[in-house]
Amino acid sequence: MKKIEPNWINSFKKPLIISGPCSAENENQILEIAKRLDPNYVEIFRAGIWKPRTRPNNFEGIGEIGLKWLNKVKKKTGFLVAIEVANKIHVELALKYDIDIIWIGARSTVNPFTVQEIAESLKDTNKIILVKNPINPDIDLWIGALERLMNKGIKNLGVIHRGFSIYKNLKYRNIPNWKLALKFKKLYPNIPMLCDPSHICGNREGIFEVIKKAMNFNYEGFIIETHCDPDKALSDSYQQILPEKIKYFFSKIFLKKKKNLKLEYKREFINELDENLIYLLSDRMILSEKIAIIKKINNFLVFQPKRWESLIEKYINLGNRLGLSKTFIKKIFNEIHKESINIQNKII
Ligand code: PEP
Ligand code: MN
Repeated sequence: MKKIEPNWINSFKKPLIISGPCSAENENQILEIAKRLDPNYVEIFRAGIWKPRTRPNNFEGIGEIGLKWLNKVKKKTGFLVAIEVANKIHVELALKYDIDIIWIGARSTVNPFTVQEIAESLKDTNKIILVKNPINPDIDLWIGALERLMNKGIKNLGVIHRGFSIYKNLKYRNIPNWKLALKFKKLYPNIPMLCDPSHICGNREGIFEVIKKAMNFNYEGFIIETHCDPDKALSDSYQQILPEKIKYFFSKIFLKKKKNLKLEYKREFINELDENLIYLLSDRMILSEKIAIIKKINNFLVFQPKRWESLIEKYINLGNRLGLSKTFIKKIFNEIHKESINIQNKII
């Protein structure tokens, strides 16, 4: 069995890869996934035992018996094993079954009572404890969770960037906030940061792109959901990938030599913001189409100059407060307005 050093991340390859299903479903399922994961890439096997589901009456995890199966995985494959805990009972069982790595999920990090309860039951443990970012982009909640663990003498800590909840985005299920994660890294340079592209994307297609981004940001590791039959998975079926994909992705990654890290990071933030602008513009034009239908039914004119004039004035003032020039705001909104009128005219 692997010996974990005090600076625990150095006990693993870089990047450290944790992989396995969203949920342990049955013994064969996890054994098969574990056998199909390439140990040259993956060093830790993950599986959810208790699942925090958004709505009730879904599969809520297999419970304690899954911990016995994980011990079999450990014996048969040599992988270390990782699970999520969300309360004192989970922690007691994780320790009883000698689970190696424990993570706190996004829905728990958000709640100081929960984190405190977990920290108290983990007191003085040498296990590796990973803290996912809270579901909302509040860096203090994330820091607070770490402080609660440190206060209980827990030293082998790491964090996971799994993105943040948003009301709607076509590209991501949980939008990454690279800037906030980097700020965290600056405050705690010795705490390894992992990336969870599965929960960031919520789909299979975007995973490789997020891995590449996180590699460019120097993340120390990844946690990625894999399943032998993703479409039939009992939770998060859209985002799980085949175990073989891990090797396929990571063997294709070549690190670019960065000339100027600061510039590269800022460029990445700009790209992300620009993409978000496109998503917003698309939402904006979809609303224009919907409004056109209502106007058509009610025999209203497409262009209502009074409304437009008062709005543009409001936008110019807001822009001014935020350091954007009047000409710039005017130009952009004239274009948006023109496009919206065109769309509406086609419908009416
Ligand atoms: C998970 O890893 O399966 C999970 C529930 O993650 P999160 O807390 O990021 O939603
Ligand atoms: Mn999941």
